[in-house]
Amino acid sequence: MGIHAADAIVLRRYFYRETSVVVSCLTDRYGKLKGLIKGLRQLPNRHRSAMEPMTVNRIVFYDTHTSQLHLISQCELLAPLAALQQELEVARSAALCVDLVDTVVPLNEPQPAVYRLLKSALEHLAVAGSDPAMIRTHFIVRFLRLAGFQPQVDECTGCGAMVHHAGYWSAQQGGLLCANCLHEDPKAEPVLHSTLETLERLSESDQPIALDAHALPGLRRRLDEFLRWRLDRPLKTLAGWTRDSRPETRVASHGSRV
Ligand SMILES: [Zn+2]
Repeated sequence: MGIHAADAIVLRRYFYRETSVVVSCLTDRYGKLKGLIKGLRQLPNRHRSAMEPMTVNRIVFYDTHTSQLHLISQCELLAPLAALQQELEVARSAALCVDLVDTVVPLNEPQPAVYRLLKSALEHLAVAGSDPAMIRTHFIVRFLRLAGFQPQVDECTGCGAMVHHAGYWSAQQGGLLCANCLHEDPKAEPVLHSTLETLERLSESDQPIALDAHALPGLRRRLDEFLRWRLDRPLKTLAGWTRDSRPETRVASHGSRV
């Protein structure tokens, strides 16, 4: 039975029996793990953190090898990031980021780059006057890349041909279709080349990038569709995400669907 220390961002917290909690958290060194904290509800002062979701903590945990559930013996709050709860759009964006990590990242595999990305996104969101749409969009695209889950934006998902201009976006197929492969998804819509370039730039950058405000709604809609198709379970935090999005300008006459 090994004992380990790590920094951990709490993704979800569940009450367990009368007195304890179970958390799903992303650690800097051990990846995502689930941990039981005995007595946290009964004796909250014994621990130096309530392990609230979206907080950064230092934890000490035992690796039991017999179960996926580790035993967290100590926790100390490092960054409450309380500002995340003060504005609705910021809170929603932060909730989406942690929900996405909790849904996609497997247990017990070190993911240091994902940890740094999530911590950075939450810290950026917590800054007064931050732009939640920009931070969230970057987080999603970069995260999907790091998780090996990114949309295919240069080659056709049907035949593998390079698509330079006049491609079609198919969330169902996981990215682009060329004109010859449109039968794979008749609902695929023409996509602007600039949208694909922006996706590529975002996926390669560790930091949020200033984006053209006109490009954001179209980008959000593409990503929303993509996540809905690619994730095993729907993200509750995605609901209402694209209410203000509008179809982007069409580059070809094919399919005037909205
Ligand atoms: Zn094709």
